[in-house]
Amino acid sequence: MKLLVVGGAGYIGSHVVRCFLDNGHNVTVFDNLSTGCRENLFKEGEFIQGDILDIPLLQEVMAGGFDGLVHLAALKSVEESMSFPEKYSVNNITGTLNLLNAASESGIRHIVFSSSAAIFGNPQYLPIDEDHLKNPPNYYGFTKLEIEHILQWYDRLKKIRFAALRYFNAVGYDPEGRIAGLEKNPANLVPIIMEVATGKRKKLQIFGDDYDTRDGTCIRDYVHVSDLATAHLLAMEYIHKFNTSDCFNLGSEKGTSVLEMVESAREITGKPIPAEIAPRRPGDPGNLVATSAKAYKTLKWKAQYSDLPTLMESSWNAYKKHL
Ligand code: UDP
Repeated sequence: MKLLVVGGAGYIGSHVVRCFLDNGHNVTVFDNLSTGCRENLFKEGEFIQGDILDIPLLQEVMAGGFDGLVHLAALKSVEESMSFPEKYSVNNITGTLNLLNAASESGIRHIVFSSSAAIFGNPQYLPIDEDHLKNPPNYYGFTKLEIEHILQWYDRLKKIRFAALRYFNAVGYDPEGRIAGLEKNPANLVPIIMEVATGKRKKLQIFGDDYDTRDGTCIRDYVHVSDLATAHLLAMEYIHKFNTSDCFNLGSEKGTSVLEMVESAREITGKPIPAEIAPRRPGDPGNLVATSAKAYKTLKWKAQYSDLPTLMESSWNAYKKHL
C-alpha cells in the first residue's frame, strides 16, 4: 500500500512508520516537526514538512494518490488543553477537518486515527471496553472524541472508512533500537522517569498516594508503542478488506501502579531515581485498564512487548544513549 502518515515524525508516528516499512509498504511522512523530529525519519520513506492547517499543501500532497492515511498529528498535553483550549480546537479539530476534506476530495477512503483512552473519563467499570460511557475529563480528550464523531459522519456521508484506535498509556521504544528521537519536554510518567535516570531531572513527583489502589498510587495500562504500531497496520488492512469502520481499545490489559513503574525502572536502569509524593494531579482517575478483547478478536492483534521489563528496558536503551 501507498500510505500517508500524518504526524509520522513523532513518538508513536515513527514507530507506526517503522512497522509499515518493515511490512513492505510505501510511506510518505507529513509532519510539521513541532514535536516530532528529523531523527525519527527513515531513509526508505519520503518526508514532507507541512502543517495540517495548510489546506493548499494538503490538497497538493494528497493529489499524489494514497491507499490510506494514518492520522497521528495532534497536540496531546492534557494540562495545556485545559489552559489553552483554543489551540486544541484549531490544531486537533480544525486540522483533522482539513485532512478529512482534502482526503475526501482526492479520493482517499481509508483512515486510521489516533484516539485515546482520554475519551472515557472516570471508569464506571473495569476493564474499559469500547462501549464504555464517553465522558472526557479534559479538553484534549474531548477533541479526540469529537473527531471520532466527525469520522462517523464522514463514514456515512463520504464513505470514508476509518479505524479509531484508543491508546491507553503508550510507552517503550523500538526493541531493535532503530528510533533515536526522544520526546521534547515530556509530561508523561515513563519519559520523566527516564529523564531522572539520565540525570536530566533531579527527581520524580508521584502525583498522589491516597488513591483507592493496592499501594495508593494510580494504576494505568501501559502498552508498548511497537504493539500499538502493529495495530495500525492490522487496522488499515482490516478496513480495506471489509470496507468497514470501527473503534478499538488498545492496552496490555494489565494495571501497573506508579510505584511499581518506579521500582521496575530502578531495577532495570540501576539508578536510584529519587521520587517524592506530591499532590494529586487534577482529573487523574485512580485506575484505568483496558480490555482489548475486540482488537484480539477482530484484528487478531496481540500485545507482544507490553510486559513491564520489556517496556522499561526498551525505554532505557533509547535514553541511555543520551547519557
Ligand atoms: N504521573 C506521576 N508523575 C509524573 C507524571 C505522571 O505520578 O510526573 C502519574 C500520573 O498521575 C498517572 C500516571 O503517572 O497516574 C500516568 O500518567 P501519564 O501522564 O503518563 O499518562 P495519563 O495516564 O495521564 O494519560
